Amino acid sequence: MPPDSHVKLFIPGPVEVRPQILAAQARPMIGHRSPEYADLHARIVPKLRPVFGTAGRVFIVTASGSGVQEAAVRNCVRHQCLCLVNGAFGARWHQVALANGKRADALEAPWGTAIRPEQVDERLQAGNYDAITLVFNETSTGLLNPLPEIAAVVCQYPQLLFLVDAVSAAGGVEIRADEWGVDVCLTSSQKALALPPGLALCSVSDRAMARAESVPNRGWYFDFLQYEKYAAKNHTPATPAISLMQALDAQLDAITVEGWGTRFARHRRLMQQVHAWLQMNGFDFFAEAGYRSPTVTAARNTRGVDIGALNAHLRQRGMLISDGYGALKGQTFRIAHMGDVTEEEILDLLEAIREFVEKE
Ligand code: PLP
Repeated sequence: MPPDSHVKLFIPGPVEVRPQILAAQARPMIGHRSPEYADLHARIVPKLRPVFGTAGRVFIVTASGSGVQEAAVRNCVRHQCLCLVNGAFGARWHQVALANGKRADALEAPWGTAIRPEQVDERLQAGNYDAITLVFNETSTGLLNPLPEIAAVVCQYPQLLFLVDAVSAAGGVEIRADEWGVDVCLTSSQKALALPPGLALCSVSDRAMARAESVPNRGWYFDFLQYEKYAAKNHTPATPAISLMQALDAQLDAITVEGWGTRFARHRRLMQQVHAWLQMNGFDFFAEAGYRSPTVTAARNTRGVDIGALNAHLRQRGMLISDGYGALKGQTFRIAHMGDVTEEEILDLLEAIREFVEKE
């Protein structure tokens, strides 16, 4: 296959972006202090609220999701935070907190096992934390942590700010940040929102803003107070990725036409489609039953398939999946079913995988 041929991405980010959305990035450039920009910004913010389930503020940040992981701890941790870790991205957030000079403990559960609310409660009773971090959907293991149940525990501790990474969930799984008491809920553009990478989006509660006022050394680029000040004029403190915002604007319109509920239901159906195929073809799951992700499935490679060779086969057919994350390479493989992907596309992918595994 020629090197510039289109390979459809079934990897857990960046995901496939539809041509109409890619084309929206090519609109003529506008100045970021112009009325046209303020209109664009003002149009996007209300359309983003359903992503997080909030009636409150949403910030548009030119960074990838990791930037807002950093922002959340810089703005919201004054004393010490507890990081819930059951996969690579939970561990990363803990590292991000430490790297920002924050005191941070990790509560660990085995990878592939959900964080249980009782564990969280026990740890919170014993500690003296003012913030807690949770990765809703662990992309490394294909596991959806029980966010509403953990939220019910967290809200018993009024001094705690609840910081949630919804990077590979937002846009594919319903989030109710206001109802669940999530103070910062963050995501990246290149996952279930099916946009190119480069934008991070987050909902931020009044409580989080009040905390930020009392936290020293928040830095400048990710300072929520700066974001708030500029958001009042529908601006951002620094020059934003305007082309990506044009794509975001177009994509949110398309999602509104699809309907958020319909979109979430489609993600569940795609998950079931992939699950049924894996079971029928002798594969197991890495994540425990009851907590498997609606956006990405990590299959246990129980048939010992050579994932590199499988991907070479898929690439010939214009498709790509993902190997296991880090130490899980070879032991698992991951199929992303998030974004704008359809049942027909998943069917084609699964058929191409079947061709390969039956040959082996
Ligand atoms: N959190 C989760 C759950 C992720 O899956 C990722 C990336 O895959 C990140 C954080 C980091 O996001 P980004 O690559 O946008 O910085």
